[in-house]
Amino acid sequence: MRPTLRQAGFCKNQGCEDVGNPVLLPHLTSEFICPSCTQKGVVQVESGGPRIRSLPCNEVQVEFGFDVATGFYRHVAVVRDESFYGKRNVYSYQTPFLQTEKRALERAEVILGNLSHYRELLTDEEIHQTTEFALSLDDDMDVFRADLCRLAKQWVSVR
Ligand SMILES: [Zn+2]
Repeated sequence: MRPTLRQAGFCKNQGCEDVGNPVLLPHLTSEFICPSCTQKGVVQVESGGPRIRSLPCNEVQVEFGFDVATGFYRHVAVVRDESFYGKRNVYSYQTPFLQTEKRALERAEVILGNLSHYRELLTDEEIHQTTEFALSLDDDMDVFRADLCRLAKQWVSVR
């Protein structure tokens, strides 16, 4: 099973102004109550990992545009390193926090860059850490703030 990176809560109440908008959950949980309408929503996890463990990845697939009504992602952004020589592998990443193709492609490129750069240096778990901290201006302010705080902590711990 892939490690959970972050979790988003989604309101499913069609009459609520926040229906379908991801809310970053500060702790791992299985329950979400919408702060706007106080109805019970759903929790969706962000996760990622190579399809085949311990094999270098030359392709990253980012699933985005989570549809709260169906429970599926609507789109996949794919970035591939065509210059890669060797057995092919895909790093698969699902995130409920990205809605646009532009941001998903940017995230995929960052992940592919990290996988290529750190291929020799890091374990799979450390790669997750690296990709998790790609900041996105597309995220809402709470998500962005939480990512920034975690990134700052990581910088401090690296010193
Ligand atoms: Zn709601």
